Formats: sequence, C-alpha cells, structure tokens
Amino acid sequence: MKNKTQTRDNSVAIVTLGCSKNTVDSEILAGHLKAAQLTFASSPEKASSLIINTCGFIDMAKEESINTILEAAALKKAGKLQTLIVAGCLSERYADELRAEMPEVDHFFGTEAYSNILKVLSPDLKYNLLGERVLSTPNHFAYLKISEGCDNPCSFCAIPIMRGGHRSKPKEVIISEMKSLVRQGVKEFVVVAQDLTYYGLDLYGSRSLADLLKEMSDVEGVKWIRLMYAYPAKFPRDILPVIAERDNICKYLDMPLQHISTNVLKSMRRGITRRATEEIIGVIRDAVPNITLRSTFIIGYPNETEEDFDELCDFVSEVKLDRMGAFLYSQEDDTYSYILGDPIHADIKEARKQQLMDIQKGISLEKNQAKIGTTLKVLIEENLNGEFQGRSEADAPEVDNEVFVRSPELELHSGEFVNVAIEDASEFDLYGSFVSRE
Ligand code: SF4
Repeated sequence: MKNKTQTRDNSVAIVTLGCSKNTVDSEILAGHLKAAQLTFASSPEKASSLIINTCGFIDMAKEESINTILEAAALKKAGKLQTLIVAGCLSERYADELRAEMPEVDHFFGTEAYSNILKVLSPDLKYNLLGERVLSTPNHFAYLKISEGCDNPCSFCAIPIMRGGHRSKPKEVIISEMKSLVRQGVKEFVVVAQDLTYYGLDLYGSRSLADLLKEMSDVEGVKWIRLMYAYPAKFPRDILPVIAERDNICKYLDMPLQHISTNVLKSMRRGITRRATEEIIGVIRDAVPNITLRSTFIIGYPNETEEDFDELCDFVSEVKLDRMGAFLYSQEDDTYSYILGDPIHADIKEARKQQLMDIQKGISLEKNQAKIGTTLKVLIEENLNGEFQGRSEADAPEVDNEVFVRSPELELHSGEFVNVAIEDASEFDLYGSFVSRE
C-alpha cells in the first residue's frame, strides 16, 4: 500500500548543474527512478519532488547552485513542492553549512547518492539499483564516464575533495553501458572523466585507455568516440595509434593545460614543464595528422606575473590550438593554493582572459577559413527554421563550434550524418550546403 503522506503524486524533476560528469550521474539516477516507477515532471514547477544535482567547482558554479536551491526553496515555501533534495558536489563539500542556512531543503546528499535518494522518494522499493540511463542529451550523443574521482595533486582544484580518489569503471561495465546506449540510438560517445589518461592504473595496474578504446571502437553502431579531459603529464602515447587507425574514433583530443609558464605550472603542481608540454603536443600532432586539439587555461593564478601571462599569450599564438577555453582563477578552500591568497585583481584577470580569447578568435577564424572549399561529415542536431545546425568531427557538443547547413530540397534529421560543402566561415562557426547523406 503506497504511503500517502510521502508524496502528493510521484512526479520528480532533476535539475543538473555543472559538468558532463554530473550530467551522467543525473541520467543514471533518472534510470533508477524510472525503474522505481517514478514519473518525470518537465520542470520543477510541475514536480512533487525536486532533486538538484549541484556543482561546487569554482565560485561562479557554487553561486549558480545556491541560487538554484534558493529558487526551489521559494517553490517549497509557496507549497508548490513537496520534497526538495540537494545532491552532488556542492552538497558533498558543504552539507553542514548548507543545512544550517537552508531549512527548506529536506535532504542533503553527496555525489553518487542514488540509493539514498531512492529511499526517500520510493520507500517501498527494495533498493536494488536497476535501470538504464535516461538521457538528458539529444539521444544521438551521450557522455560516457569511464572513471570517478582524481589522484592528481593540482593545487587549485577542489574536485578530489568532492569526488574522492580515482576509481576506474571496469571495462565490461563500460562496454555494456555503451551497448545499452547504442540500443537507445546513441551514435556519438563523448568520453569523460576527471583525468581520462589515468584509466586502469588503479584497476588493472597499468594505464589501459588504449585497450579500452579498442574495445569501445569495436562496439557495433558506434560512429564517433570523442576524448575529453586528458591530462598532459605522463600522457599514455599508446592511445595515439589507436586514435589514428580507427575511423570511429574522432581525430579530436581535449587536453586541459591550465598554463604554460613553468613557474606557474610548478606552483599548480601539474607535474609538467613548458618544454614537456610542447613535446607532447608535437608527438600528438605527428601521430594523428589533422587532429583537433582543444585546451583550457586558468587566468590570474596567484603567482602569475605579467611575464608569465605574456608567455602564455606567445604560446597560444605559436601553438595555434583548434579549440580553447579560459577560466578565471577561483581561490578554493582546502586546496593547496588556498594559502597563496587571490592577489590578482578581478579586473586584471578579466582583461587578461579577454586578451587571450582575442588571440584565439583570430586563430579560430584563420583555421575555419582554411576549411572553405572542403567537404565535411556533419552530425545534424537541429532544424533552425529550414537551416540545419550540426557539428563536425572537430566539434564537441556544448563547448565547440557549429556547422550551419543549407538544404533547400531535403529535410535533414537530428542524429543523421551528412556530407556538407563548406562555403563560408566565421570565428566560431562554418556554413555550407548539403551534398549527400552518409
Ligand atoms: S586533473 Fe587536476 S584539475 Fe583535473 S580534476 Fe584532477 S586535480 Fe582537478
């Protein structure tokens, strides 16, 4: 007999903040809730229970999480919400402080709190965690998390505090997850972790990403495998021939460098120097011709001098990355660099970030213009009033460029691969006409 006082009805909504790894957690949770016969509301306003999967990475992310919780608390106060659950990284890190500040929240859980959340929302369920992931992305692509946590000692990073040490997922679990997602229509797998390159060291005693990639690439129906979050130090070079040889592994690699000045890299405890960074970039580009390299940098790290920043600008001008992002340094409690304070003024940080992004804008335009006259394979994602938006092999979802496709004769469908003749380019997008279906 259902426990009436528990929920007015059993509709639940999940709000996911932060990174793609959090997205995967929410999708796994949704799979369990679905298996427990709970129904999903399309928005918090329509739900009886709300789960907020928070992010606690840096100031901006924490602020967004807190504002989202406060909005939900207001819904609860207005009697429009029965149960409010806060989970994920911010809650993992600051549960006690949040609990004291936010009495409207019924439960605070950390990361991977699936069974606890199920116990609250479906007390009758026998807690064996069942269910396939319920995708929140368009179902032609999915993020695939191959490990949790991180063993690297980066001075500025609070992720190990929230996610713990590195735990690789067993290969067979990853492959079966891929097969189940292919059955759901997924063609592109965006492989994520805190540090992709560490895969297997804990479980198999050696870095095993190359072997895993081969098995992933052999899964029937997989069209694109894309690698995000590779750590530059101790980079497993044996993955490069696998990337080069396998058609369904994108010639694409995201490798956050964070900085280039050896002085700053040393203080960041990144375990690598400028010279070694340039060397590994050279090795990657030699081994996988035309690979798209993405990276991200932290601006305004406490010991970053004007000279260090100029060195970073010179490096970005010379190395010509294909895709690049930049974040402002955020002083995080309990991290190694916390004691260094946050001496660089926010305006200076912002000005430096703008300067670096302007350099990259020019490089990106140059590289995009070089693609005019070529034909690219494009994964169509959306119909924007008769013009279709898609991504090429060089574009990760949500962070990279887009391709806009004209196809006056033919309706193109989300999730299909087509060949596109590139006719024009801007800093961050390409424009072209439909040629043929794949
Ligand atoms: S590699 Fe460094 S920056 Fe990335 S999650 Fe690990 S500790 Fe944080």
